[in-house]
Amino acid sequence: MTKLVPKQFFSSPKNIVTICHLSPDGDAIGSSMAVYHLMKAMGHTVQVIVPNDYPSFLKYLDGINNVLNYSNSKEEAKEKIQSADAIFNLDYNDPKRVGEMSDLIMNATAYKLLIDHHLQPVDFTDYSLSDTSASSTCELVYRFAEEQGYLSHINSAFANAVYMGILTDTGKFSFNITKNVHHVVGEMIEAGADVEQANLEIFNSYSLGRMRFWGFCLSKRMRVHKKEGVSIMPLSIEDMHRFNVQKGDTEGLVNQPLAIKGINISILLKEEGDKIKLSLRSKGDVSVNDIAREHFNGGGHKNASGGKLEIPFKEAIKKVESVLNLQNTNNH
Ligand code: 5GP
Ligand code: MN
Repeated sequence: MTKLVPKQFFSSPKNIVTICHLSPDGDAIGSSMAVYHLMKAMGHTVQVIVPNDYPSFLKYLDGINNVLNYSNSKEEAKEKIQSADAIFNLDYNDPKRVGEMSDLIMNATAYKLLIDHHLQPVDFTDYSLSDTSASSTCELVYRFAEEQGYLSHINSAFANAVYMGILTDTGKFSFNITKNVHHVVGEMIEAGADVEQANLEIFNSYSLGRMRFWGFCLSKRMRVHKKEGVSIMPLSIEDMHRFNVQKGDTEGLVNQPLAIKGINISILLKEEGDKIKLSLRSKGDVSVNDIAREHFNGGGHKNASGGKLEIPFKEAIKKVESVLNLQNTNNH
């Protein structure tokens, strides 16, 4: 049940904080910056907080330099959360998804709002706009602005942020596409979204090293199980050191094997310290959300989910092979 924002809550200047999920992606950053620009235009004070760093190709948005990174400004972030009147929880639906900050959020006295599109939401906020059929949280931030009567405050900075989230979460308008997605995008273009800039910054700004690394991963690390229609791509710490992989360099890589005919599930395993981060993608009716929840301590969406394993890298690969019943690889 959606509980409505009290009509008067945002009618006087408020101290607002926004928080998104760990390892923020385009939709997490886009929705945070969209709420930032909307609420600022309405006369509020806004602090965007992210749990940790995010890809540099998302850093072209106006106002991005004001974002506070919890992992290197813990005291300041704590103080902002404790003194906030309102907290927007964006692009996640379970306090666990923000790591260490979850206790601060749960204990905060602020009025809590959630805007999100992930499956199986946890009820932890005063207001919730949760729609699992939406393409992106950014699409829902627009709906929030419309429903609350705030559309007269939107500007080109808001439009660029919303556009970025929709563009990235739909895989460049490839999935979860509805008439409404294009309606919102049309409104954003009218409000001044720079479509060419988004494409240039997000998709055509690879470093040479990143492109070479993708070539290496696709030729040397992708294991194709044709019979089962599955690809797995295990990336060790050594692989990432060898190519000096930066935050964001693997973003989108997990989608590549799905371009192969007959491959319906793609899983990328990334060794990070003593944890293995998993990214899962699927085509069609296969739910990687179910697989991630059941076996890999994660979740997300039907066709795009994540998870983690706290076991050695080699065991993690074996676990993925056994969960998916994989036999021989066929890389030809
Ligand atoms: P990615 O593979 O790009 O990290 O994540 C794909 C999707 O799954 C995103 O929507 C992300 O929010 C979600 N996701 C990633 N990791 C986790 C996780 O550990 N738990 C849950 N519940 N969702 C995750
Ligand atoms: Mn999203």
